[in-house]
Amino acid sequence: MGLISVETASVCPSCGGPLELVEDGVFLWFGCRRCMRYVKRGKRDFVKRFVDYRSRSFNWSGMMAELYRLYLGT
Ligand SMILES: [Zn+2]
Repeated sequence: MGLISVETASVCPSCGGPLELVEDGVFLWFGCRRCMRYVKRGKRDFVKRFVDYRSRSFNWSGMMAELYRLYLGT
């Protein structure tokens, strides 16, 4: 199963490098490749929290903010 990784606009507070979002079949990883520090969340449950089914929209910035908060907490 392949990994999909994207660079995000967030910056690592430790090294100043770009934080990346990595996705595999089951998990979302968010963190810094240089520091090798990541937070991991079960994709299905986590992403679901940011979907608004009524307006059929996805709160991308809300999800990124939450991942960043989790990363700072590690
Ligand atoms: Zn870093």
